[in-house]
Amino acid sequence: MDTSNKKNRSLGDSIVRFLGFYRNPVYIEDQLKEADVRSAVYLTAIVSMVEIYMLLRYVKNWVLPGKVASVGEFFHYTSTYWWFLAASLLLLVYCSLFLKKKLRYLGKYSREIIFAYFLLAMYFGVTLSMHDFSRGRMILCFLTMLMYVTIICVWRPYTSILLIVVFGGGFIWLLNHFSFDKAGNPLKLSEGDYINFVTTLVTMFILVVAVYHQRYRDATKSWELGRITVTDDLTGISNMHNFEEVTKAYLAESLAQGKKPVYLTFNLENFQTFNDRCGYAGGDELLTRTAQIISNTFPGEPVARESGDNFAVLTTAEDYLKRVAEIRVRLRAAYPNETYLDVRAGAYRPRDTEDTARHAIDRARYAMRHVTNWQNSFVPEYDERVSKEYRLRQYILNNVEKAVREGYIQVFYQPVVWAEDGTIAGCEALARWIDPEMGFLSPGAFIPALEEGRQIHKLDLCIYEQVCKRIRDSIDNGLPVLATSLNFSRLDFELMDAVGELEALVEKYRVPKEYLHVEITESAVTEDVEGLKRAMKRLHDGGFAIWLDDFGSGYSSMNVLKDFDFDLLKIDMEFLKNFHNNQNSRKIISSIINLANSLNMMTLSEGVETEEAVDFLREAGCGRLQGYFYGKPMRYEELLEKINDGSLKLGEKHI
Ligand code: C2E
Ligand code: MG
Ligand code: MG
Repeated sequence: MDTSNKKNRSLGDSIVRFLGFYRNPVYIEDQLKEADVRSAVYLTAIVSMVEIYMLLRYVKNWVLPGKVASVGEFFHYTSTYWWFLAASLLLLVYCSLFLKKKLRYLGKYSREIIFAYFLLAMYFGVTLSMHDFSRGRMILCFLTMLMYVTIICVWRPYTSILLIVVFGGGFIWLLNHFSFDKAGNPLKLSEGDYINFVTTLVTMFILVVAVYHQRYRDATKSWELGRITVTDDLTGISNMHNFEEVTKAYLAESLAQGKKPVYLTFNLENFQTFNDRCGYAGGDELLTRTAQIISNTFPGEPVARESGDNFAVLTTAEDYLKRVAEIRVRLRAAYPNETYLDVRAGAYRPRDTEDTARHAIDRARYAMRHVTNWQNSFVPEYDERVSKEYRLRQYILNNVEKAVREGYIQVFYQPVVWAEDGTIAGCEALARWIDPEMGFLSPGAFIPALEEGRQIHKLDLCIYEQVCKRIRDSIDNGLPVLATSLNFSRLDFELMDAVGELEALVEKYRVPKEYLHVEITESAVTEDVEGLKRAMKRLHDGGFAIWLDDFGSGYSSMNVLKDFDFDLLKIDMEFLKNFHNNQNSRKIISSIINLANSLNMMTLSEGVETEEAVDFLREAGCGRLQGYFYGKPMRYEELLEKINDGSLKLGEKHI
């Protein structure tokens, strides 16, 4: 198809294009064929009526006046009309069936069949007009026939020239060489008729070529439109919208044939890193290559780019695990230097045709992301167990607003103590979801789901408000007021004006800011560095302390310390696990504490469960301690009781 810029076309190119010397995509060629068939329907209907009229005229002028002696004679003289009528009706039926898509095998031969009609029409045109010419009449029959058939054979302009020249020229040649009057003298076309004849042929040619170019333009436009709606712009494979359509039929067919179709989802691991290293153009190329590799590995099956670096496949291949492994190998071979690149996959087996592609891919992706202990295979499959988890996740996402509204989200408080004397320094607010249907849910179940579903801010806002309200109540009722740390999700800064919302709550409940600390986990800091820095500056300017949660749990802990300005460092509880028999743990914790001190940061150790840990941390110079040794997360009332009965003592200071 022509994609070259019209303005830059040379004269030669223009002529070549005008005459139609190029290959068309199958879709355009089909559209052109269909247009011919459509014309043929109208034409054959008209021709049939004309032939019937001619027969009736014959009956009126010859049969009824008794000029025709027998039936045999009648058919002899009208045989041309009968033949042409029969051929036209046959073509009419053929074309109607073709347009209704009821032809399988014969549908492929529309051009050949129409051309056979063309030849027949030419035969009649030539014989009748030569007969008329010998009797001194005009040669209109040939011209009419030629007009009929050229408009149903709008192929390429050069073929139209060929047809018109061969048949028009051939006819004149026959006329000039084989026409005789009654006396046997040869007849010749007069110069005036000759000029008229040639002018008619040229006009016919111009008409047919104009029709061709118009049809070609229409077909190209609809092809482009169709292409845009079904393909992914970047990679050229199908888009998700088309995938949904195509998989419907494919799934129904393969289930009916007793095959076992599987939806697969693919994700490029570390695509972001690749983008950073190789730029967006490199990233685009990687996506295109991956699309090709996946399509080539599942030839003839529905393959689509879902979004970003996610791809989707519906396959009936029983060896699909082997093929997924092949995809990894091919990708590695294509990018031998980018060793961190990999493909992850997830699978879902649709049960019936009601399982939509979106649903299926969503589940396959869920398995890919959340199933860690799948057996023997690199492709985790969505099974019953995963299904239960998935349903819980869906429940969480669908019900978070209701849970906030109905008070199912509650704050539990875990005491934080001063290491030097074990008195309370404050507490950490930890969310609990106590659901009438699902029961008690801990953050491990709902925080990742809410983060993934980008709804975490709804829960966090609810927690902040409850904490602010609690502090206000305590102040108003003369109860002990505990400084409280709030967990901020990285997404809070993206999904809402987290700082603004906190400021508004502080104002609403008139909470002294030193009673609130903001906890941001180390892993949150790695993305959108600048955005987070801006938010942290606003928090600091607003008078809030910012604590670095889970320090040491990620891969870039030192960078975080280098680039950000935290007030307190919470040492991840992993360091305290097995610390009794691991000398290295002790050394690392001591070093972290020294490092924090040298950076003027306060310290807190999480996960303190034993007296031995307390002693060690106190010795090492850690400022605050938090853990089951002092108390699990509990309701505020319970915390107050512990303070009242003396099992927890209030500290002098809270910051
Ligand atoms: P985190 O902020 O690091 O909270 C500490 C977690 O460690 C809490 O788990 C707490 O119950 C647990 N923990 C405390 N002391 C000990 C101990 O001595 N031993 C052991 N094994 N565990 C201890 P929880 O409450 O399940 O919270 C898990 C994580 O969920 C939190 O980690 C935090 O990242 C997140 N989270 C909790 N509540 C919220 C919230 O309101 N908003 C946001 N965005 N995240 C929250
Ligand atoms: Mg925390
Ligand atoms: Mg923590």
